[in-house]
Amino acid sequence: MTITVESDAAARLGRVRGEIAQTCREANRDPASVTLVAVSKTFAAEAIRPVIAAGQRVFGENRVQEAQAKWPALRAAHPDLELHLIGPLQSNKARDAVAMFDAVHSVDRASLCAALAKEIARQGRSPLLFVEINTGAEPQKAGVLPDDADGFLAACRETYGLTIRGLMCIPPLEEAPAPHFALTAKIARRNGLELLSMGMSADFETAIAFGATHIRVGTAIFGHRS
Ligand SMILES: *Cc1c(COP(=O)(O)O)cnc(C)c1O
Repeated sequence: MTITVESDAAARLGRVRGEIAQTCREANRDPASVTLVAVSKTFAAEAIRPVIAAGQRVFGENRVQEAQAKWPALRAAHPDLELHLIGPLQSNKARDAVAMFDAVHSVDRASLCAALAKEIARQGRSPLLFVEINTGAEPQKAGVLPDDADGFLAACRETYGLTIRGLMCIPPLEEAPAPHFALTAKIARRNGLELLSMGMSADFETAIAFGATHIRVGTAIFGHRS
């Protein structure tokens, strides 16, 4: 039973890698320019280990506390792992997030910028930072509104001294993702940002075609979350 589950995840990872390579060929992109972030949220260490064994090194989690419970042991065994925070971050968790993560994909408000800047200076650690854009202007969703993005990015730099490297978006569930990826890429281009975190299990091929440098894929690798 366990063996079946383990080889399933490794096989699915292989398929995802094949699809990334194929999409990159079609888009005339170097596959090395696309980082696969394997989203392991809700899955236990036992489900993650076979994916590490299959060569995957970059993982994404959406909660600081869950990551703290799962990852220290895995990282001790595999010092070359990279861990990315892809979910919302509360300012009072900035200390733990800066200590634990190599990238934060969800920078979206001034109070969080202040907390991150303080911890980055205090800890001497600099996770890769992405600003999340709420491209669909969905009221329930985190992220900076597209019209506010340029001003927010300027404030990150000038007020908080933060180096933002890219943008992240999560298109509305019920809409075609392409216009949202295009908008995110456009905002990044005019702000001189080179990284784009966009694309999940259902739409990473489209995201790669629109220039994604980081795709966040959970279900297609680990299976459905309960
Ligand atoms: C869960 C999650 C993903 C992965 O979604 P899948 O559809 O399972 O690939 C990607 N990005 C974020 C922000 C998530 O929370």
